[in-house]
Amino acid sequence: MFITFEGIDGSGKSTQCQLLRDGLESKGFKIFVTREPGGTKIAEAIRNILLHIHEPIEAMTEVFLYCAARNEHLEKIILPKLAEGYIVISDRFFDSTIAYQGGGRGLGINRMKEINNIFIKKATPDLTFFIDADISTIEKRMENKELDRIEKEGMQFMEKVRQGYLDLIESAKEYREFMTIDGDLEINEINEIVLKRVEELLENERG
Ligand code: ADP
Repeated sequence: MFITFEGIDGSGKSTQCQLLRDGLESKGFKIFVTREPGGTKIAEAIRNILLHIHEPIEAMTEVFLYCAARNEHLEKIILPKLAEGYIVISDRFFDSTIAYQGGGRGLGINRMKEINNIFIKKATPDLTFFIDADISTIEKRMENKELDRIEKEGMQFMEKVRQGYLDLIESAKEYREFMTIDGDLEINEINEIVLKRVEELLENERG
């Protein structure tokens, strides 16, 4: 099973990935948690370019760098771990490109979907959680954090990214499962919702 978490920066994805791992591991499942961009040495080096080199970048260059990192991550980590029987949980996957570059940078949802087709054929998540926190809540959460290049884009950009996610979910919900969760809920409340849905899916798979 392949599960992804999506949402704007600071929405609580990485917190929920760890909590889901803990919850499933305590029930005896084999879990592998990973994140994008990253996961291999080369993909982490690309992550460093994307997040920590503070110089303007052409929007399509950004797309291809994310895709290059994703290809490494998918071929070397995600697919092998799934084949070994792990439940793979990824903090971001290709939906982030649709929302950030398609919505945030204005390159268009459909154009980004076409590029993502390369990956969709190899691994489509069985379940994607979209954590939808209020922008002003996130602004407060990020107040004391040292911001990376994308986080520095500011809240207007994040609002466009959020809209990108909403448009994507609207256009893809017939083909894939997205579960939108209110990111303003307490951390433990979100974890309970997530865990319940994943356990239901695992039950269905068994039964
Ligand atoms: P992301 O991975 O989406 O960028 P994080 O999981 O790193 O977000 O969370 C960003 C910050 O917000 C962290 O300090 C985290 O403890 C806090 N946080 C996460 N989820 C919640 C929540 N539901 N309520 C309050 N604070 C939260």
